[in-house]
Amino acid sequence: MNNFTYLQATQAKEATAAVRDGQGAAFIAGGTTLIDLMKLNVETHSQLVDINTLAFKGIEQTADGLRIGALERMSDVGENALVLEQYPAVSQALLLAASPQLRNMASIGGNLMQRTRCGYFRDTAFPCNKRQPGSGCPALDGENRGHAILGGSQACIATYPGDLAVALVALDAVVLLENAKGKQRRVPLVDFHLLPSTTPQRETVLEPGELIVAVTVPAAAHARKSTYLKVRDRASYAYALVSAAVGLDVQAGQIRSARVAFGGVGTKPWRSTAAEKLLMGAPATEATFRTAAAAAMREAQPREHNRFKVELAQNTLVRALTDVAAKA
Ligand code: SF4
Repeated sequence: MNNFTYLQATQAKEATAAVRDGQGAAFIAGGTTLIDLMKLNVETHSQLVDINTLAFKGIEQTADGLRIGALERMSDVGENALVLEQYPAVSQALLLAASPQLRNMASIGGNLMQRTRCGYFRDTAFPCNKRQPGSGCPALDGENRGHAILGGSQACIATYPGDLAVALVALDAVVLLENAKGKQRRVPLVDFHLLPSTTPQRETVLEPGELIVAVTVPAAAHARKSTYLKVRDRASYAYALVSAAVGLDVQAGQIRSARVAFGGVGTKPWRSTAAEKLLMGAPATEATFRTAAAAAMREAQPREHNRFKVELAQNTLVRALTDVAAKA
């Protein structure tokens, strides 16, 4: 781990300017991803800018729906009564994501910024286009059991590792960002994470020094009837092999609105509008769910060790839809 300086920021402008202007400066909140990566020398920062005292807090229902401050902790949001009742997929994704100790430390904004668990990325003995652009991607023909089957490129097939963002993408969440000039902008979360294409080192639309302030999730019938189903190698805290976040509004057996997103299969949280189109207006039956699941995986491009994810993702989606339809 390299030496770095530490700045405790008291104002958003101070923090954003420090990171924008600092050579190799980075924000730190919970630090549960960042410190790991610094210990591995995957990330080497000259300065850490602590943002924990900024006023990006609160979990509340507003005219825009649920608003979560970016510095709220995963545990507080996952156990919040409003989130549990009105946005159950968000609560489930948070509670399944990590151990209680990690959830107590990790912030919502930091959670959205999680970096891939690709073993080559985390081991500096290997080349990796994401860590060192142009050096190559050993995962393409190497150990790729956990890698993405959707959204990959010849430069990178790393899976986006998070759970929360999958539930939020399904429910049309929007992130509020602020830059060093104090200017704010809103970005649909589905557009926040980038596909790797030829620049896998660029993972989000954040500009240098830009901070996540809050996340909003619209109130909707399908949000109240939502669920997050996570399939993993072991029952205790592990990353998703496949996960599905779904929201359904079913009236008299017909689907009025549907939301579908996958984790564990995409290079970013993977919203499936193909599945949603087939679900909308159709009867809430297993046959409908199977047709939607097939459509969701039509573009899948598995590699040698992750072919099993295609069928697993389809079965996960069918089960999640069946579970949530039974509660409708
Ligand atoms: Fe690096 Fe991406 Fe290849 Fe993994 S999949 S080795 S992160 S370039």
